[in-house]
Amino acid sequence: MTSADLEGRIALVTGATSGIGAATASVLAERGAHVLVAGRDRTRGDGVVDVIRGRRGKADFVAADLRDAEAVRRLAREARRIGGGRVDILVNNAGIYPFGPTEQTRESDVDAVYALNVKALFFLGAELAPAMAERGSGAIVNVSTMAAELGASGMALYGSSKAALNLLTKAWAAEYGPRGVRVNAVQPGPTRTETTAGMAEDLQALASQAPAGRPATAMEIAEAIAYLAGDAASFVQGAVLPVDGGRTAV
Ligand code: NAP
Repeated sequence: MTSADLEGRIALVTGATSGIGAATASVLAERGAHVLVAGRDRTRGDGVVDVIRGRRGKADFVAADLRDAEAVRRLAREARRIGGGRVDILVNNAGIYPFGPTEQTRESDVDAVYALNVKALFFLGAELAPAMAERGSGAIVNVSTMAAELGASGMALYGSSKAALNLLTKAWAAEYGPRGVRVNAVQPGPTRTETTAGMAEDLQALASQAPAGRPATAMEIAEAIAYLAGDAASFVQGAVLPVDGGRTAV
């Protein structure tokens, strides 16, 4: 696979203003894709776009607060408009991950986590996968977490939302795979991003339980996402790929 193997493809990355999403936008652009950088924060989004364009890549910022299905539909419409009528690669990365005891979790926390981590992703898939299927090709990569697989104390809400994402990945692979759309997920372990910078000790404590013994960089996760998005993964469908330093293997 050449370094420009995604040339000519339109890639929409949600949550691309920060962390894993920003790194993914950068890797996909490096490989030739025109990347649509989605997020709420225009300043950070423009920053990601500027870095990509500074390296002669193609990128545009698309503002979207994915709080309800209508906002998701607007993002899909805008992405198709900028993409000249199509989106070839969708990376469902936007997510929030509040931790804490179940009994202290408020209804508003549950609503917010499920609205972004499950409902927004569900409706974005519903908007974009059918058109990919009509064209006979496309790739969707969902960003999960190792907490979707482990029964971790304090992660019931977050882990359960991403467990739903894991199942959606397989269900969509069954639904759209026969028409040329590959749907997969990466399942990261603790990763250094802008948001986790404020919880460095907890992150290291979590990471030390894995064979790798350290948190990932956002770029290490982005490389796995880009692999699943590209043709090198042409026979990979419905997979949930652990990228967790070996944590779920031991
Ligand atoms: P992050 O740095 O906190 O970035 C989150 C992204 O989501 C930002 O770009 C943010 O953009 C966007 N976002 C948040 N709320 C949104 C909303 N309502 N509408 C639209 N966009 C919204 O996240 P990260 O640490 O890179 O994590 C990215 C993904 O990886 C998440 O799904 C997370 O669950 C998963 N993950 C992370 C880790 C980790 O240790 N970091 C481990 C496993 C899995 P704006 O602020 O511009 O809206």
